[in-house]
Order: sequence, then C-alpha cells, then structure tokens
Amino acid sequence: MKYCYECGHKLILKECYNCGVLDGIFPYCTKCNEFRFPFFNSAVSMVIFNKDFSKTLLIKQYGRDFNILSAGYVNKGETLEEALVRELREELNLEVLSFKFNESKYFEKSNSLINNFIVQVASEEFTLNPEVDSARWYSLDEAKAAVYQNSLAEYFLYLAMTKL
Ligand SMILES: [Zn+2]
Repeated sequence: MKYCYECGHKLILKECYNCGVLDGIFPYCTKCNEFRFPFFNSAVSMVIFNKDFSKTLLIKQYGRDFNILSAGYVNKGETLEEALVRELREELNLEVLSFKFNESKYFEKSNSLINNFIVQVASEEFTLNPEVDSARWYSLDEAKAAVYQNSLAEYFLYLAMTKL
C-alpha cells in the first residue's frame, strides 16, 4: 500500500514502538497521523480426517471438477478456531472432535493468509450445503492422487499426512 486509504496522501514508513505487541516499521499517513496497516483476508482451510485418521474428505465447489479442501474466510472478531468449527458445520454439517495447526501460507490471488488445520471429525456422515457441489471420503493414498498437482490442497494434504 503506497497511499492512505482515507485521504490518498502518500504513506511514509515509520517506526512504531507502541502498536500493541507489534514493534516495527509500518506505513504511516502524515496527514491523518495514523498508521495504515496493509489489508489482507484471513482464511481457514481444513484437512479433514475421520475418527481413526484412515480417510480424508475432499470437496468440489463452484462448478469446478477438481478436489479441494474445505475452507472459508474468518469473520471479523472471530478466532481461527471458531472459524474452522463454524465452517465445517455450515459447509458439511460435521462436528469437530479435535484439531491441530498444520501450516499457514499467503495466497496472492485472494490476498489471504490461509491457516490450515488438521481436523478430526466425529462422524463420516455429512450433508452438503448449497455452496458445496460434492464431497467424498478418500483413503489417504487415493486422496494424494485425487488432488491437483502443485495445488494448495496438495501441499497442505501431504504435509498433514506427515504429522498424523
Ligand atoms: Zn491519510
């Protein structure tokens, strides 16, 4: 971000010693006298496993014929943990039994920080909400072959499998 989103003034970089817990150099508008932190979205994405971690659930969405991971944006005021529980309820009507952090990755196309979690669900029974075209459980070997090469889904899935 080069210009202030409120007044259009050119931003400078200024040291901030008291930005809550953040100390560092940030964009600053000398006209508004405010720091202008860059905007980006936060999202959660989930590698979903059944109770004994023998299968993983992949979904298809938006009319596209390839498998992806269940994912969604984090609402303002919501934690990552709350977002993942909500998303799985909303998209698939699944209840989370346990979860742990896998890895995060910045995704340029949607200007999003994607926070991926390894999630264990209580039941393999799901119901699709209209946002989701289809979903299917795969054995772990099948799943590796069922995701697009070099996709984010592949990246998170392979990594998750090393952490089970
Ligand atoms: Zn300004």
